[in-house]
Amino acid sequence: SSALVWFRRDLRNFDHAALYHALRDHDTVFCAFVFDTDILDTLPSRTDRRVEFIRASLVELDAALRQQGGALVVCHGPARKEIPRLAAQLEVSAVYTNRDYEPQAVERDAEVARRLAALDIAFSDFKDQVIFERDEVLTQAGKPFGVFTAYKNAWLRTVNDFYLRSYPVGNHIAQLRAAPQARGVPTLAELGFETSNLGTLRMKCGMSGGAELFDDFTERMNDYKDARDFPAVKGVSYLSTHLRFGTVSIRELARHAHQRGGAGAETWLSELIWRDFYHQILYHHPHVVEHAWKAEYDDIRWETGKAADELFATWCEARTGYPIVDAAMRQINQTGFMHNRLRMIVASFLTKDLGIHWLRGERYFAEHLNDYDLAANNGGWQWAASTGCDAQPYFRIFNPVTQSERFDALGKFIRRYLPELKDVPEKYIHAPWKMPAALQESVGVVIGRDYAAPIVDHAQAREATLARFKLRDRS
Ligand code: FAD
Repeated sequence: SSALVWFRRDLRNFDHAALYHALRDHDTVFCAFVFDTDILDTLPSRTDRRVEFIRASLVELDAALRQQGGALVVCHGPARKEIPRLAAQLEVSAVYTNRDYEPQAVERDAEVARRLAALDIAFSDFKDQVIFERDEVLTQAGKPFGVFTAYKNAWLRTVNDFYLRSYPVGNHIAQLRAAPQARGVPTLAELGFETSNLGTLRMKCGMSGGAELFDDFTERMNDYKDARDFPAVKGVSYLSTHLRFGTVSIRELARHAHQRGGAGAETWLSELIWRDFYHQILYHHPHVVEHAWKAEYDDIRWETGKAADELFATWCEARTGYPIVDAAMRQINQTGFMHNRLRMIVASFLTKDLGIHWLRGERYFAEHLNDYDLAANNGGWQWAASTGCDAQPYFRIFNPVTQSERFDALGKFIRRYLPELKDVPEKYIHAPWKMPAALQESVGVVIGRDYAAPIVDHAQAREATLARFKLRDRS
């Protein structure tokens, strides 16, 4: 019998659950990927680093599969139709894929399964992108966890070699076949996209890029706990985009950190557990996509109207006058990446200094982050806005200046992304509007002329936020 493996956010040919099962169960296995126009058509721009990252990763995957006697069929159209069409053409008896937990993906897969069933073709999906999914880690009362630390403890109690073991695909690799429809990967132009700046960012794509980053990080992992909060330091793994598109295996990463032990590896493993945590939140509570985790937080009156739109634009365009916020927004705008500490700072600033709905910030991130992942992004935003499960309490409001002093003390990160502030002395780099007028002139940074004046007063904004959340408490 023959099967088709449908690749989605798992662009690798090793340690791959669906590929492993297909090779084990069938004597002929084809592979496919769909540039899904149901997704691509919703992208706001025809220049998108992610499309380019995927494309480059597919070129590598196709080459790797060809070396093993297979090849990737790359389609371009609505996946809900393309996969059943291809499966019928290839006369396979089953389609194998790895599970995706995002509500729209769940709907799409249900439709694909229905269409395949009508053709008498089976649809099998597997856990692959997380260590634990759905109901695998529950409270003693059998309920999903809403508190991270309790979830993490249960996760650590449950994990063992079985869950961290790879799915080896080598044993039955001879069953891979190249379908006649496998004619290489379309160019960006053929997909209707333009080249982004991904190349100039020296971002390494595909399995080789993921492996290279992970190798590099294993040298630094012991320092992760101490270094991870400082955006000017190379302290984190930078693997998020590879985790998003599955060019690395979560099992391999988690296994390494789990076996290695020590403070650095344990802290990093904890971040991988946050990833599982938010995935299970999204799976059990899909309403978080549009709503606050706690229904009563939907009543918060965020700022709206023209003035709010203008504030939102200053945030997007890095013109808030708070250097750490503006440098972070330049980072995401220019590279599609933002350091985790900065994501927390800018999310807090948008929601608590500008009073703007977290959904607007979440959507901006969704459009710009290379590693955009609905579960993690929604979780991060609701955490910062204090509307989420196990979120930052609403009365804990980040002060952007003290955050900047703590996490970018020398202003190194700020100066990297705001070269216009390069001559501002260290003493003023976090709050340049405090520079005396003569100093502003002498360093060539006159506030309001060369760099924005702060658009809000943090102390006042803080009071307004406390009132905003208290009003809700009373309602
Ligand atoms: P590392 O510090 O090396 O962590 C390793 C991996 O753990 C990451 O690659 C990621 O897969 C996972 N991870 C780390 N922190 C978190 C977290 N808080 N929640 C879930 N998973 C985590 N992460 C995304 O992958 N996609 C997003 O769209 C996203 N949006 C975010 C939005 C906000 C407002 C916030 C506060 C955080 C968001 N994060 C998101 C989490 C985190 O900021 C990024 O995963 C991290 O910065 C990526 O860099 P790294 O790979 O070097 O991380």
